[in-house]
Amino acid sequence: MFSLANKVAVITGGGSGIGKAAAIMFARQGAAVHIIDLNADQAIETTREITAAGGQARMHTADVSNQQQIKDIVASLSRVDILVNNAGIAHIGRADNTSEEDFDRIYRVNVKGAYNSLHAILPLMVKQKGGAILNLASIAAHVGLTDRFAYSMSKGAIHAMTLSVARDYIQYGIRCNSISPARVHTPFVDGFIAKNYPGQEAEIFDKLSKSQPIGRMGTPTDLASLMLYLCSDEASFITGSDYAIDGGFITLNT
Ligand code: NAD
Repeated sequence: MFSLANKVAVITGGGSGIGKAAAIMFARQGAAVHIIDLNADQAIETTREITAAGGQARMHTADVSNQQQIKDIVASLSRVDILVNNAGIAHIGRADNTSEEDFDRIYRVNVKGAYNSLHAILPLMVKQKGGAILNLASIAAHVGLTDRFAYSMSKGAIHAMTLSVARDYIQYGIRCNSISPARVHTPFVDGFIAKNYPGQEAEIFDKLSKSQPIGRMGTPTDLASLMLYLCSDEASFITGSDYAIDGGFITLNT
């Protein structure tokens, strides 16, 4: 079960955290993985780990918010069976203290970045008459997370994009789903704690862990397992769905 043999997967942001765990797991299941990441060193390291374990991986350094860069990469691929729109950045702030520059930056990477990959890859999937797309949304798309105005906006857009793509491409055998994680322990989380709560790292880490009723943050591997399922042929009856993977955050935090 869950074999990805003979499948080509594109994973944006595959150099770190959730995307890296997914890239390693997908390659272990037989996929040829293409990692698109802004951070060349991290992407090289993920590819190195995959190839050292006998898997197939190639890295492409690019900014997902740059349409031409993404088009050029996709033009070099003969097929794409799986697209994971994972690259994303965080931001803290309310509507009144989020600057226009920060709002635009979050929009460019988290929203336009996903659109750029969809725009470039969907024509290939249409030609192939099949494909699986998985978008990284967040619990922020479903609940009003305190102080996450721009980030929540971007993840709400991801959720809506998922529904739109699932509907428009169902006739071509293309499935599109999203997942909505609560906090997952990755460099993304460590980075924003260090940046926004200097000197209180341990206390904030503990508080964020306990905000999941299950009492801990998720791990990248928790996420990669669900991502593998949703991108595999075993999930062929699933499209237009969003899966919370959140230690009970949405339903049990009343
Ligand atoms: P991370 O920071 O560990 O990894 C993100 C990767 O994306 C990095 O390798 C980074 O270089 C790359 N990236 C950033 N901007 C890019 C750009 N413009 N072009 C190309 N690559 C770029 O993050 P993570 O925690 O693994 O998060 C991955 C996704 O999961 C994000 O979309 C995030 O919003 C979402 N998510 C994370 C959490 C969490 O708690 N970690 C929770 C919910 C959703």
